[in-house]
Amino acid sequence: MQTYGNRINNQQVMPTDDRWLQTSSPYTGEVWARVPDSPAAVDTAVAAARKAFDEGRWPRMSGVERAAIMRKLGALLTENAETLGQIESRDNGKIIRETGAQAKALQSYYDFFAGVADKIGGDVLPSPNPNFLIYTEKVPIGVVGAIVPWNSPLMLLTWKLAPLLASGCTVVVKPSDITPVTALLLADIAADAGLPEGVLNVVTGGAEVGAKLSGHTDLDKITFTGGGSTARHIATAAAQNLIPAILELGGKSPQVVFDDADVEAAVNGLLAGIFAAGGQTCVAGSRAYVHEAIYDEMVARLVKRANEIVMGNPADMATEMGPVASDAQRERILGMIDKAKTEGALVEAGGCLDPDLGGRFIRPTILSNVDNQTSIVREEVFGPVLAIMKFSDTDDITALANDSEFGLAAGIWTKNIQRAHGLAKQLRVGTVWINAYRAVSYAVPFGGFKQSGYGRDNGLEAMDAFLETRTTWVELSGATRDPFVLG
Ligand code: NAD
Repeated sequence: MQTYGNRINNQQVMPTDDRWLQTSSPYTGEVWARVPDSPAAVDTAVAAARKAFDEGRWPRMSGVERAAIMRKLGALLTENAETLGQIESRDNGKIIRETGAQAKALQSYYDFFAGVADKIGGDVLPSPNPNFLIYTEKVPIGVVGAIVPWNSPLMLLTWKLAPLLASGCTVVVKPSDITPVTALLLADIAADAGLPEGVLNVVTGGAEVGAKLSGHTDLDKITFTGGGSTARHIATAAAQNLIPAILELGGKSPQVVFDDADVEAAVNGLLAGIFAAGGQTCVAGSRAYVHEAIYDEMVARLVKRANEIVMGNPADMATEMGPVASDAQRERILGMIDKAKTEGALVEAGGCLDPDLGGRFIRPTILSNVDNQTSIVREEVFGPVLAIMKFSDTDDITALANDSEFGLAAGIWTKNIQRAHGLAKQLRVGTVWINAYRAVSYAVPFGGFKQSGYGRDNGLEAMDAFLETRTTWVELSGATRDPFVLG
């Protein structure tokens, strides 16, 4: 078993209280590493980030210099992509095809935001009186706490790190207790790339460490990706400390398939939406509304394709779906399938563990005879379970699709552009894909409406979240003003 310490001030730091957590492979069950689970380390890490922000070079160096280090970080991540992808796959059971591709894509995020780092400026503003010169500057917000989940650990961390580093902030990261190792390795790679000490610190651990970080009084901002119940704790802590938060949360994203859709493309899109990553993605397209004219054909094709999905060793390039990430995940997902059945759902595919593999391998599941009132259509499963429903021309598909507490994403399948854009405009979600699903980019803002959170990762908007505006008024005339009058 390997032992990893926290990363603070570019150093490996072992826990002073000797508290550890173990990380294991959901595929083999093997415990392969241990990492600190030490709330005490949070104070040390935040102090390091504070010192680096208040006294260090990072927020004070030019954007060109910061960008150069970020580009080096991106390039080194690509050099290490194979190892990083393998470790993520080992820790969360996602297939190497996806974790490997994600690790290779990280560089593009650091490159994109490096390209923004050297363009942070300000404005000269019109003055109410000619004797003033008024200008604004965009300055980094300060020390950020970043808490991320296990399903795409480095990718989701990078969505936060790239813009906050570009802006000149410093950070303490807490990765998920299920996938703690790659964030530690990323911190080492960042040190090799020349990131000054204290800029990027990583403390591993579970909920106690996360709570200590999110409640820390020396943070200036929190950015979080994860579940709604954790988000409530984090938002409460942020409110107590009067600091802003970004919350990227879950979803129950609808996929609407009209009768004029390219059926083959829609089948692919629905499969990609729910069975890629075993449905363990925030944007999982977990409820499908299919027009009655093509419903039977779509269900038949989806069931056939779902039953053909190859499950097995996530490290094997031929595998299409791995195990779910933990025993807790398996119990939750199977429990939700059972509840759906008691509410009348019919199992069209899956609905059980894989008969050969058992363990944490849940077969790709398609449930019919459900509607918007049933729990399987209302609650996030975070697993390979598609609830499929029929609609007719007379149903209000906008109301059906919007009838959810979540608002993360949606898919629309049709060849009719008026229909596609017309529905897209009505949907209360952060991302709409038309004749596509699960496409993301460094350049494109990503985040939710409603209970799917607030704030955005990615795109230029992500930079704004880590910058504050400072306004300066310069009196140019030297004239004496009435001290008792505003203006
Ligand atoms: P989670 O909320 O259980 O954990 C997320 C992180 O919070 C982990 O690092 C965890 O250790 C930490 N944490 C747990 N309790 C805490 C507390 N009391 N205070 C502070 N931190 C605490 O979520 P998860 O199970 O890791 O991930 C699954 C959830 O994440 C799903 O709901 C999914 O939809 C969501 N998600 C959202 C996005 C998005 O971008 N919108 C992306 C991926 C996952």
